[in-house]
Amino acid sequence: MKTHTQVAVIGGGVVGCSVLYHLTKYGWKDVMLIERSTLTSGSTWHAAGGFHTLNGDTNMAALQGYTIQLYKELEKITGMSCGLHHVGGITLADNQARFEMLKAERAKHRYMGLHTEILSPEEVKKFTDGLVNTDGIIGALYDPLDGHLDPSGTTHAYAKAAKMQGATIVEHNRVLETNPRPDGSWELVTEQGTIIAEHIVNAGGLWAREVGAMAGVYLPLLPMAHQYLVTDEIPEIMEILKSGREFPHVMDPGGESYLRQEGRGLCIGFYEKPCEPWSVDGTPWNFGHELLNEQWDKIEDSVTFAYKRFPVLERTGVKSTIHGPFTFAPDGNPLIGPVPGLRNYWSACAVMAGFSQGGGMGKSLAEWMIHGETEVDPRGFDVARFGKWTTPGYTVPKVIENYQTRFSVSYPNEERPAARPFRTTPMYDIFDSMGAVWGQQYGLEVPNYFALPGEPRYEEPTFKRSNAWEATRQEVVAVREAVGINEVQNFGKFRVKGPNARAWLDKIMAGAIPQKGRLSLTPMLSPKGKIIGDFTVTCMSETEFQITGSYGAQDQHQRWFEKNLEAGVSVENVSDRITGFQIAGPNARELLARVTRADVSNAAFKFMDAKQITIGMVDCLVQRVSYTGDLGYEIFCDFMKERSLWHTLWSAGQDLGIRPFGMRAMMSLRLDKFFGSWAREFSPDYFPGETGIDRFIRWNKPVEWIGKAPAMKEKAEGPKRKLCAFVIEAEDADVVAYEPLWIGDKVVGFCSSGGYSHWTGKSVAQAFVPVELIKDGLVAEIEILGERRKATMVTGALWDGDGARMRG
Ligand SMILES: Cc1cc2nc3c(=O)[nH]c(=O)nc-3n(C[C@H](O)[C@H](O)[C@H](O)COP(=O)(O)OP(=O)(O)OC[C@H]3O[C@@H](n4cnc5c(N)ncnc54)[C@H](O)[C@@H]3O)c2cc1C
Repeated sequence: MKTHTQVAVIGGGVVGCSVLYHLTKYGWKDVMLIERSTLTSGSTWHAAGGFHTLNGDTNMAALQGYTIQLYKELEKITGMSCGLHHVGGITLADNQARFEMLKAERAKHRYMGLHTEILSPEEVKKFTDGLVNTDGIIGALYDPLDGHLDPSGTTHAYAKAAKMQGATIVEHNRVLETNPRPDGSWELVTEQGTIIAEHIVNAGGLWAREVGAMAGVYLPLLPMAHQYLVTDEIPEIMEILKSGREFPHVMDPGGESYLRQEGRGLCIGFYEKPCEPWSVDGTPWNFGHELLNEQWDKIEDSVTFAYKRFPVLERTGVKSTIHGPFTFAPDGNPLIGPVPGLRNYWSACAVMAGFSQGGGMGKSLAEWMIHGETEVDPRGFDVARFGKWTTPGYTVPKVIENYQTRFSVSYPNEERPAARPFRTTPMYDIFDSMGAVWGQQYGLEVPNYFALPGEPRYEEPTFKRSNAWEATRQEVVAVREAVGINEVQNFGKFRVKGPNARAWLDKIMAGAIPQKGRLSLTPMLSPKGKIIGDFTVTCMSETEFQITGSYGAQDQHQRWFEKNLEAGVSVENVSDRITGFQIAGPNARELLARVTRADVSNAAFKFMDAKQITIGMVDCLVQRVSYTGDLGYEIFCDFMKERSLWHTLWSAGQDLGIRPFGMRAMMSLRLDKFFGSWAREFSPDYFPGETGIDRFIRWNKPVEWIGKAPAMKEKAEGPKRKLCAFVIEAEDADVVAYEPLWIGDKVVGFCSSGGYSHWTGKSVAQAFVPVELIKDGLVAEIEILGERRKATMVTGALWDGDGARMRG
């Protein structure tokens, strides 16, 4: 056995084999895979082998499309069969909300190059040779890419393709220990001896938790027991086969089932509500090629429902039952990428749909390892989207919730209730007593809005305007006419210290680093020039800076900072140690003046100034900036003193019309100025010139900042598309994200985000548009829930265009 390797992939399921293949494909040949037993000895061998592109996360959907199209490539390279059946499939909609969701998905697919179609109930009947009872069905989404394959053949095809390009596979060799070495490499103690690897990939599937624990890491995932049935031969299926056709896939979310042809019969699986986690406290090492006992009681209701939807099943016997475990992360998406806090340790775990997602995940991980970044924004599958705050106690209820709702309609404003409240700030009970309707960000409870007296403390999940409308409107008006207050806890906050702090920031950030007492806004770029952060930098002294960015991306950012750390500088994540409030609106200055002895006049405390001042009893860092676009201040303080600061501001603001506002109002307010937002307008999917954030780049900095060369290239060549603002003639639903932009009968762009600007009374969106089409007043159409709505381009802000209010 080799004793030294560039990469050791632990686990020979479909995911480990895909990673191995993609590493060799992109040029790393000195790679080995170590498998405890034989290939496919985890969840892979008993998979139903179905694949499809549908995924609420757009990049995941695109990568699922990549996975499916890869199988032909594998067959060609290896001469092996993946047992492919590209039969096409449909997802049924049995209620209006689900139909709206499918129409929204269909709309997204238009610019992703996926050729899905909406079918009528009659078309469903025809497509399925009358085997689907369409009573109550409103329509369906057809995807020609849906199909199924042979799980074992496919995994072996990945393995063979990797071996043909130089990879080594060692079977019957359990990894017992993973020990970090001082140079960043790893020692793997295995049953067959010790291996030194520059990089480790944990593709341990069912045992990924145990493999992670060997390196001291908790990976938030849990196996769930899942069951599908294979029927005896069915005469109707045999008739279809005789005519040279195959029966398609049918997903029936209303019945929590998926159905496909298996041989001369059918196979049907369920995501049942009375589901069961498996081996909560750890997967036994001696678990192998065995199945779990059949369990009919938990799928009884689902089977009864399926008999109605697919009457042929009731007349058919069950040939076999497959009941086995596979893993899920709390949000159901994979955990991929560099594990925060460890060097050269990569996660390829929690891939719950290995045959829809395995190819795309292998591709993305190999790109990350070899090129330093992924082709598409990895946010939806990045292992760092869960922080150190996750625990098994959190993961278990979240995974159960995810399994139970896998086939539920997923609404853009939905807040799922399991494992909450979990992380709260000192303001939780105060805001709760004021009627907060809570949302969750990175495990943290954040007020979405404050229910009006008599209103329910619950926002109805919907694709349309919700019952939060009036409360949100009143919060917006309070900010624009008086003063609003909300918490700044949901910022990622870092303190950058040391003699080299400024020089380091100049290299990490593309924008200007401010002088003492001033702020700057800056993008952070990847080496390929993509936007990987959007920060406010505050210079507190020449050796101490505060930087604030996305709360949800804090682990991703900290990982990047640590990777690029240099002597003479330290970066500390203080996101949960420093908190506070922002106050915004025309009365914000008066409020601040009442609670501090410092001079906060416009002359003494200008826009983009930062000052350390005492408010009431609390020492604070106050920054004159506001994402609402109004006169405003962000006030940061020690976590322990937050309630004291609140009482001071709240009581002083009573006669100034102070009112708390939540995230719904904040996102509406920012639309008045078309301010971009992290993960919507600004993300690693985009280059700075496309989004307009390039205006914050300091091109002539004397240092070589990261991403400079590609950003300069983009600037010289000019971007092909640009973010533009639109006012839409909408009715009862606004843009969320990824809706297509039509001109005539062509889709020319897509929306990054949108919503309703309560202050201006307009439905608005931001969308990427080819530069040659851009002109003020351009009339286009934006497809919202399947309806094309007139959209007119506007080139200025909707309110306070000259920034007088913000700066004055
Ligand atoms: C009943 C059922 C039906 C399913 N149907 C589908 C479907 O239709 N479509 C679909 O896409 N997905 C389906 N899945 C899910 C699919 O099986 C998984 O997504 C996939 O198998 C995950 O693969 P993996 O490589 O991550 O993990 P695994 O298959 O669990 O592989 C992990 C491997 O790592 C090895 N390993 C672990 N620890 C060590 C160690 N210390 N040393 C060496 N080796 C180690 C194990 O032996 C194992 O071979 C289904 C799953 C089940 C249970």
